[in-house]
Amino acid sequence: MAMAPVPIPAVGLNTGAEMPQLGFGVFRVDDSYAAVTPALAAGYRLIDTAASYGNEVGVGRAIRESGVGRADLFVTTKLANSDQGYDATLRAFDASLSRLELETVDLYLIHWPVPARDQYLESWRALEVIHASGRALAIGVCNFGVDHLRRLIGNCAVVPAVNQVELHPGYPQLELRELHRELGIVTEAWSPLARGTALLDRPDVAQLAAAIGRTPAQVVLRWHLEEGHVVIPKSITPARILENLDVFDFALTPEQHAFLDRMVEPARVGPDPETFGSL
Ligand code: NDP
Repeated sequence: MAMAPVPIPAVGLNTGAEMPQLGFGVFRVDDSYAAVTPALAAGYRLIDTAASYGNEVGVGRAIRESGVGRADLFVTTKLANSDQGYDATLRAFDASLSRLELETVDLYLIHWPVPARDQYLESWRALEVIHASGRALAIGVCNFGVDHLRRLIGNCAVVPAVNQVELHPGYPQLELRELHRELGIVTEAWSPLARGTALLDRPDVAQLAAAIGRTPAQVVLRWHLEEGHVVIPKSITPARILENLDVFDFALTPEQHAFLDRMVEPARVGPDPETFGSL
């Protein structure tokens, strides 16, 4: 039986729509049906998948069987690097919708800029067409740095609603977030837990968490929420799926928050967007 929904705050997008501030990521989740089913039952309403994760089919099935109304869900998927370019993007989007067995997604993202291929402006034109058709209610990008974003803004009709980037204590992306504020783009943090141990096993983070009576992951997620980011922690562990959602009834003191602001490790844990996807 589904548990009572947890009240998850929303952030406003430049489309006028709202996006849950905390969601569930499914990168490297082979059995997405098995992971998304308990996440939806626990109260997650934002699911973040991608064509390249190879698990859109399981996500769609979990959604259909969850009993949660489509209007209450926020589904994100992403354009694979190999499908960049105008025509290929249009085809890739159709294929994602068909694997998800959905008529719309709430957010469609370019997964990586792949500067060496230099196709993201063309791909973005296709996203604008998809958005105009009403099948992607919002469109955005991932892993765009300041230069990629400025170039896109100078050459597009629709400003991205979201830039989903690696972001966590130790890797706060301050310059990029300032540009997002200027342009009205929502910052969405991927690897919000820095993928686990490098951040969560730090003795100083564990000590801070113990002082509050929370876990390191909860403290880190709380920092993100207080910074205004959307976060999409991933877990295939039932207890952690619940733990990561249980972050709305406490706050960090200004000192605790500032401690996480000041951290300089772990720095980037994922690939460099300047080179990722180049052959
Ligand atoms: P996360 O920072 O979410 O960390 C996930 C890791 O942390 C897993 O090993 C998980 O283990 C562990 N973990 C989760 N919760 C806890 C907890 N409460 N206590 C201790 N350990 C925990 O990393 P991801 O890289 O998965 O990022 C999250 C999502 O962001 C992805 O799933 C994907 O949707 C998105 N993403 C987007 C990218 C992009 O290019 N746009 C790139 C990378 C990610 P376990 O599962 O075993 O419980």
